[in-house]
Amino acid sequence: MDAAFLRRWLGRVSEAVGREAGRLTELDSAIGDADHGHNLRRGFDAVAAGLENEPPATPGAVLAFAGRTLISTVGGAAGPLYGTLLRRAGKALGEEREVPDERLGEALRTGVDAVGQLGGAKAGDKTMLDALLPAVAALPDYAAAAQAAREGAEATVALRARKGRASYLGERSEGHMDPGAASSALLFAALAEVAA
Ligand code: ADP
Ligand code: MG
Ligand code: MG
Repeated sequence: MDAAFLRRWLGRVSEAVGREAGRLTELDSAIGDADHGHNLRRGFDAVAAGLENEPPATPGAVLAFAGRTLISTVGGAAGPLYGTLLRRAGKALGEEREVPDERLGEALRTGVDAVGQLGGAKAGDKTMLDALLPAVAALPDYAAAAQAAREGAEATVALRARKGRASYLGERSEGHMDPGAASSALLFAALAEVAA
């Protein structure tokens, strides 16, 4: 796994978020403020453009750049949370140019732990973590991680939100998929695609 692999991943994420922005915003209109797809499209467009203009040479630098860009371009909860995930994962990868898949898995687990610390959410709170935690637990098997993220996102439908804007709705948040869990599933679907 090298910098080019992660640049391809984030390029695919940008395409998928662009394609699915309407659906993500629709999910957010049911239990939030109808901006999740729009927020992420702006952020990942900026990530993809930045990576094309000045491609960082190491895997760690690619993720750190993407994290910084999300933090600076995305308003709302998801920008700082995804930004922190990628920045911390990038830092964990260090400066090597070639990294075994196991190390990427460990780095992404470190990043997901940082999301939990920043937002104070746990598994079952109906957030992006309900897709992210099972996904990173399945790494370095990329296909299994994508499936775990998708299943985790689907399982948020039945949950009651305990963190973020959707928690204001109490039991009325039940019956809808969490938008952040849905976008996390897109991230891991894209990772499995570039790894295949
Ligand atoms: P905002 O709610 O500020 O409009 P977004 O709509 O972009 O931000 O993102 C909402 C998503 O962010 C939620 O669906 C949820 O997955 C995630 N989220 C919100 N708060 C938290 C938190 N404290 N911990 C983890 N994820 C969170
Ligand atoms: Mg929102
Ligand atoms: Mg918002």
